[in-house]
Amino acid sequence: MLASSIEELESRSLERIAAARSAEELETVRVDAVGRKGRLDQFFKEMGKRAPEERKSAGQRLNAAKQKIEAALESRKAEFARAALGSRLDAEWLDLTLPAPGPRRGHAHPITLIQRELEELFASLGFAVLDGPEVETEYHNFDALNIPADHPARDAQDTFWLEGGNLLRTHTSPVQVRGMERLGPPLRMIAPGRTFRNESVDASHEHTFYQLEGMMIDRQVSVANLIHFMKAMLTAVFRREVTVRLRPGFFPFVEPGFELDVQCLLCGGSGCPVCKQSGWVEQLGCGLVHPNVLRTSGIDPDEWNGFAFGLGLTRLAMMRYGIDDIRWLQSGDLRFLEQF
Ligand SMILES: [Zn+2]
Repeated sequence: MLASSIEELESRSLERIAAARSAEELETVRVDAVGRKGRLDQFFKEMGKRAPEERKSAGQRLNAAKQKIEAALESRKAEFARAALGSRLDAEWLDLTLPAPGPRRGHAHPITLIQRELEELFASLGFAVLDGPEVETEYHNFDALNIPADHPARDAQDTFWLEGGNLLRTHTSPVQVRGMERLGPPLRMIAPGRTFRNESVDASHEHTFYQLEGMMIDRQVSVANLIHFMKAMLTAVFRREVTVRLRPGFFPFVEPGFELDVQCLLCGGSGCPVCKQSGWVEQLGCGLVHPNVLRTSGIDPDEWNGFAFGLGLTRLAMMRYGIDDIRWLQSGDLRFLEQF
């Protein structure tokens, strides 16, 4: 009778220990089973009333049950302690090997975005991307481009002259001269960069703006080649097929020279305020390189010819993104810049 009660208490206690969900529940089980006034203690007291021969086997049985329960309590208690430590380590863990947050990552200016796109495009067509100085000599900016000192084209470019006869380049064209001098024919190059003119600043004029100049020198280059490359460029920039037309235009360093217009992307040619109702928007100047320019840079115009073009990156960015005031571009105003 006693033996089966002890067995029942033991198995019941072991079950409760296994099912305990916290150290507190475990403590309740301990007090009930092996506490000073617990069930086992009652069995011990009851055992004292039994005959000596029965007492011995019951005592052994009780001690065994007590040891088993206490061992189970201990190991369950250790489990709870480990879990508590684990969750504390998880909560208070700090990875000292993580890099510090560092500065916030920025993004490129809209003009830089267009410049990089065009550089990639022309590089894929075999053009070199050349760079040149922003402080130029009068020779590279004017004379070598068929604009001698008395030429009226000089008056059209309000120039920042520096002491000693140098100037801030008024266009990226001097990089063509430097490219021809250094690399010679055949030559495919573009020259993007910053240019300067002494302009009164308003919504459509800036003293500092960006151009992209390009040139291809080879044997038998024609106006058809020129139109092909210009269309490829404008299609890439505006991300759609564009219709272009050439009008005669005067630039001293090309002959013949053209103004290239794009059919208005807003109205499709029917006329709107942006194209001043004409259906066309003036996009760039271009032409076949003037023999004088080739000769000045040491290239024989009887053997070689080529085309050249120049366009305003600033203007292109304004057209593509619908920017109506050129002054935004150099304002440094984050409300404007963060839109790109
Ligand atoms: Zn239009």
